[in-house]
Amino acid sequence: MQIIVLGITPYKEKDGIVHAISYKETIDFLVKGLFSSKNKYNCLNLNLARANVEMLDGKSYRYPVLKDLTDIKSPLPSKYSYETTATLLFLSELCNKILPVEEQYLLYDILDKAIEEIKSGVDCYLVTFTFLFSALRYQGYEFNTHECVFCHSKKNIVSFSFEDGGFVCRDCIAETYYPFTGEELRALYDIGTGIDLLEIQNKYTSPLWLGLTNKTLTFLQDAIGVHINSFNLLK
Ligand SMILES: [Zn+2]
Repeated sequence: MQIIVLGITPYKEKDGIVHAISYKETIDFLVKGLFSSKNKYNCLNLNLARANVEMLDGKSYRYPVLKDLTDIKSPLPSKYSYETTATLLFLSELCNKILPVEEQYLLYDILDKAIEEIKSGVDCYLVTFTFLFSALRYQGYEFNTHECVFCHSKKNIVSFSFEDGGFVCRDCIAETYYPFTGEELRALYDIGTGIDLLEIQNKYTSPLWLGLTNKTLTFLQDAIGVHINSFNLLK
């Protein structure tokens, strides 16, 4: 089973419980010697590490017990920076907070993709934003970024409303909306078309993605009361 590690909890002396997701379930399992430097399984002691794991049969423990591990992949690219590590912290904190534990596995595909994007050198701020924006879908927020959500006009788009679910045109705007710049709206449109992130990243700057992430997190906090502390490391 392919998994992505979302968290580690110490258990007894050198053992640990790994909290992880696969594409079809959220799973907690016991790893003997997780905190032992001599144990080959200690590579799982890293958030967002990915691996193929096999569990022991039998139910002598409260948790399934790791039997074997192959294809371990570190989330870190060969060359990494402060921003890379801060982004990885952000992604794992978001996964742990945005959905209830039993639903976290729904994020498997987009998380796997985000980790690959970071490893292949896509702007960390762009990955942060697109991951957050896609993760909101699993909270029930699907956004329309190609026409006004009220009148379906594709012209004179002047704002974006998280509450109403997407673009708003000049005729339908209300005063209470967050202000969005034309460039931010174009970036949202481009993300919505699903074009390759490597192509998008040449058109916009990191501060633009940071600003959009900030607005989205403000909405997340207001709408579902989730606050992502590690975002401070990216500001
Ligand atoms: Zn309209």
